[in-house]
Amino acid sequence: MSNIIDGKGIAKSVREDVAKGVEELKKKTGKVPKLSVILVGEDPASKVYVGHKSKFSAEVGIDSDTIKLPADTPQDELLGVIDKLNADKSVHGLLVQLPVPDHLDTELVTQRIAPEKDVDGITYPNFGRLLTSEADLEPCTPSGVMELLKRHNVDLKGKAATIVGRSNIVGKPIALMLMRNHATITICHSRTTDLERRVKEADIVVAATGKAEMIKGSWIKKGAIVIDVGVNRMEDGKLKGDVEFDEAVKNASLITPVPGGVGPMTIAMLLNNTLKAANKALL
Ligand code: NDP
Repeated sequence: MSNIIDGKGIAKSVREDVAKGVEELKKKTGKVPKLSVILVGEDPASKVYVGHKSKFSAEVGIDSDTIKLPADTPQDELLGVIDKLNADKSVHGLLVQLPVPDHLDTELVTQRIAPEKDVDGITYPNFGRLLTSEADLEPCTPSGVMELLKRHNVDLKGKAATIVGRSNIVGKPIALMLMRNHATITICHSRTTDLERRVKEADIVVAATGKAEMIKGSWIKKGAIVIDVGVNRMEDGKLKGDVEFDEAVKNASLITPVPGGVGPMTIAMLLNNTLKAANKALL
């Protein structure tokens, strides 16, 4: 059996499960989940992501709606749009596509989202709950990583996990989730000394730095599991991860490729969160 984790296949299977859940909800309530996405401005990458969100929503039977606002939308106006969607009972999931233009306060904007509709799992109540136990809605990329490990029956108990990257949307929540599942965690960042040793000691390595191939394949312990969250666009247009894949794959017992590893899981988990939010609101 290959040691390469098929994120694309697993994401498809998650979406199939979501589609079944949507059908069940429809049978019970006559309603389907609805996801609203606010897109401010014309950032090309954001437009692509939002397009994927609406395409995959449609695939699983989730009703989705993109609210496009001009790049110069004043903050108060954006907050007003969020308030309106927060109050709209037909909307179950709500997110603001990031990054927002510079004149907007990202923190203020994202924290305005009602926690029960916060399908990105980034509002303080959801993040706080993640810290103390399990939140109803947890961040999508970290949940996707955990789902990949679960579907490969990885037993995390007692394992040494090194997470490289400490961002609020990726590194930190992944560390919390791994710890919740009884791994012993080491969190590394740009000021960490002796990164190589800390990676070499790990049974599980999670790379989330945004620095192409900075984790060398020779650092990966024989039999370790490697999860590469990084997405780096190279000059030739190809995508590369944060791990030197061609060498790491020789040592790892399981490894995610880039693309086709963690990436497809993010939207799958967003759809799953939207279904969860709708179930909570409607059942
Ligand atoms: P951030 O830039 O917010 O965080 C990067 C982290 O990496 C920081 O904690 C930083 O440390 C650390 N870091 C940077 N350089 C080094 C270094 N040389 N050694 C050790 N640590 C380092 O990025 P994100 O967490 O948002 O994203 C990380 C990667 O994951 C990116 O490639 C992004 O594109 C990708 N991503 C992929 C997603 C997907 O769906 N597959 C979703 C989200 C992100 P410090 O805190 O000290 O600055």
